[in-house]
Amino acid sequence: MEAVSTYGQAAAGPPESMLRDGFASALARAADGTGSTLTGLGLVADGFATVQIDLNVVHKESQGSRAEITLCDHNCTTTVHGVATGGNYTCPAAMSLNRGARSTSLAPGAKLLEGLLSTIDGIRTAQQEFLTADLEAYFERESIPEALRPDYTAALSNRKIVVNLFGGSPETHPDVLEIIEGIQGAGAEVHLTTTGRRIVSDERFLADFLARPPEVIGLGADDFESADDVDRLFSLGFDELARLWRTTPWQHGQRRKAIEAVQICKMAQEHEGFPAVLFNIVLHRGNLKDAAALLDRLSHHTDGRAVLNPYPVQTAFMGQRGELGEVDLHRLSEFADTAIQVHRDRLTGEPARWNLAPRIGYWILMRALLDGSAVEASDRVGGKGVWQCYSRRGAGRCVQVGMAARSSHETALPGGHLGCFWNHETVTDNRQFWDLDTRTVADWVLEGRRESAAGAEWRCRGCLFPRMSMDAVSLELGLTSASAEPYRRVRARYLGY
Ligand code: SF4
Repeated sequence: MEAVSTYGQAAAGPPESMLRDGFASALARAADGTGSTLTGLGLVADGFATVQIDLNVVHKESQGSRAEITLCDHNCTTTVHGVATGGNYTCPAAMSLNRGARSTSLAPGAKLLEGLLSTIDGIRTAQQEFLTADLEAYFERESIPEALRPDYTAALSNRKIVVNLFGGSPETHPDVLEIIEGIQGAGAEVHLTTTGRRIVSDERFLADFLARPPEVIGLGADDFESADDVDRLFSLGFDELARLWRTTPWQHGQRRKAIEAVQICKMAQEHEGFPAVLFNIVLHRGNLKDAAALLDRLSHHTDGRAVLNPYPVQTAFMGQRGELGEVDLHRLSEFADTAIQVHRDRLTGEPARWNLAPRIGYWILMRALLDGSAVEASDRVGGKGVWQCYSRRGAGRCVQVGMAARSSHETALPGGHLGCFWNHETVTDNRQFWDLDTRTVADWVLEGRRESAAGAEWRCRGCLFPRMSMDAVSLELGLTSASAEPYRRVRARYLGY
């Protein structure tokens, strides 16, 4: 395997045996009962659960009825009125697709905060129950070594909860700053996953935002045209980027997002107290050839500070076939090996090529899925039949809140449904979270998805969004039996169990 050890320098990757031996022995040495090694590798997440909430759910009136949709201030579509935009995917929240959306129907911040606080309490109750009722069975099922069990228990007892504000540009919600303040006041951490438009363009908002910033700002990096495009955009000054944004047609939302992402990175370098930057990077047919170089350039231009969260394009949750061909899968295979090496280097204290989001279980699973026929591997890395949030108690520790299922009755206020942002047919609850008490939320976290899925007409085929499976514990609890066996084989090769 050819790898690049630092920006632009070619070096040979280590043999697999070195990765394996390095991992197993370093993991055994590092076990100290605190759980920090497991968290550093992403075997257990830094915090028991996340809440991912779509703040921009609105009502859309159409032919006398009212549905819930997500409203975005960008237009990521391939065409508008039959004219190509330059974009290479279509997002259902795009501006041009949402005529009739009533932005004034947004649920007020106080209502959203009420639901969030009750959800945070419910998660903490569910955490206690998981530790008491489920953890021992998990240890036995996954043959977790005795020496590591105290570390698992310590890491899973972490009371931290992350709330990820989501939904196009969540900072366009008029009460977003009060929502951030309320969440942080409850002891939870806030991540803001956004295009960044309002932060870049509204100076007054920026000042208020920096007075009480979220801990992390999440940006998309799949809209860059190439690794060279990253260099070109980062070489421009802030005013030149602003000019480029203005001359980019509104129809080409993807290009505008790429420019905004660079503007946000430059602001992060200039403004004291700016949130840490995380890049979500969807690996697809268009960028896999260049993917390692893309991560190198992003690392270079952010001084290695930005956290990089790459993952292959997901298709199964929509009932679609995998879209990666044989060559793409070969590239993904090399990429997975490099990601595993980064985790190993981090564990053994050697310089790591990228500041990856810690997810060793995820990359071990990728390694396992990529063996075998290309057709099957393409579907599997797209999520088909591999991991399902509704498989077992504890599989879904990322609690998503957003739009109603299509079959749901009309609501007075839109949004607030526990369920799934990506697939509304399987686990989405008809009730709204501001009407649920702590006990009900705790039950939903541990059991709700399984109950909803059991009664669903169409069950989601699965997904491998890293945020959804969170860490190796949730990942392993949600694996189908067909995937668990190859995963355990590869895990044993690297981690020794
Ligand atoms: S979180 Fe669950 S319902 Fe949503 S896409 Fe993944 S497996 Fe499907």
